[in-house]
Amino acid sequence: MQLDFDDTQRPADKEIAGIPVKIAEGLWRAALPMPFPLKWVNTYIAHFGSEWCLIDCGLNWRESRDALTLALRSLELDYSDLDAVYLTHAHPDHIGAIGKIAPKLRIDTPIYMLASELEYMYRVWGEDREKNAQMVIELHTKHGMTEDMAKFSGAGFLLLAQFIALAPRERLTPIYEGDVIHMGSESFLITAAPGHSPWHMVFSNDRFFFIGDHILERISPNVSYYPDTDPNPVQSHIDSLAKAAGLGHTGQMILPGHGAPFVKLEERAHELQESHLRRYASTLQAIAQSDKGLTGMETAHIIFRRRELEGTDAQLAMGEALAHLERGRTLGEVSFREEDGVVYYVPR
Ligand SMILES: [Zn+2]
Repeated sequence: MQLDFDDTQRPADKEIAGIPVKIAEGLWRAALPMPFPLKWVNTYIAHFGSEWCLIDCGLNWRESRDALTLALRSLELDYSDLDAVYLTHAHPDHIGAIGKIAPKLRIDTPIYMLASELEYMYRVWGEDREKNAQMVIELHTKHGMTEDMAKFSGAGFLLLAQFIALAPRERLTPIYEGDVIHMGSESFLITAAPGHSPWHMVFSNDRFFFIGDHILERISPNVSYYPDTDPNPVQSHIDSLAKAAGLGHTGQMILPGHGAPFVKLEERAHELQESHLRRYASTLQAIAQSDKGLTGMETAHIIFRRRELEGTDAQLAMGEALAHLERGRTLGEVSFREEDGVVYYVPR
């Protein structure tokens, strides 16, 4: 069984690793493989007149790197032909290979990322990996995971870290919300769309919308709570769904991080907002019906209607349950008490 943020049961289309599919004049999408239930991530290669640009780069995993190289070769390109690289957000499937790619780029080819997400990337996946894994273990124990499950969460974090090769920090160029970037004849407005990651970047004009994992057509992007980043990621996602919908144009092609391009931006943004609100309502209902309050893990079991939650599913479900419970705290509708080092959420 899969949670609803898992793509396994509904593959976007027949993906072929590293074969670029032309989706518009000057724009190709290539699917890069992943050894996860969500099997593919997109990379885009853009050539709007002059410059060659790459958007996201897949995992640091041989099959994925080979597929990216194949995609470029199919267009008679080498890494040194790229004029700019853009990274939408600091998740392994979007940034993983950058440390392997950077040395193959020309020295004057910038690698752009939203400034705060760039900082976040080095903070999470840099030298402090081990410390961060320990933090995940402590967080999940405090919110009701068994010791074994929490250790699995920590190990899962370190496993993901193995799919990331960071480039030297000075090799990346920060960009900012409101900046306008130029790719050949097309210009794009940079927008921050927090939620799925704390400073997720999207960029759009009236024809194209590179939306990363902020809005996916067939799956709900996971929105998880972690301490010391965004205290209310569900609200951030709800707000930036509205923000993205406001950047829509008739006939604009939405280019997601997973799955095929789509057009119904506003409708999909609204669906995702509604689904957050429904899940929040079931979170409130769950804690209201319990006598002594619920841990994050107990809440996850109820709102995802799953008696058993294991492995990655458990981590994602826990992250999302905590995100809704913390939204409740921000709204003053939920509070918590601690007992023997475990947090129980209660209605306020
Ligand atoms: Zn992704």
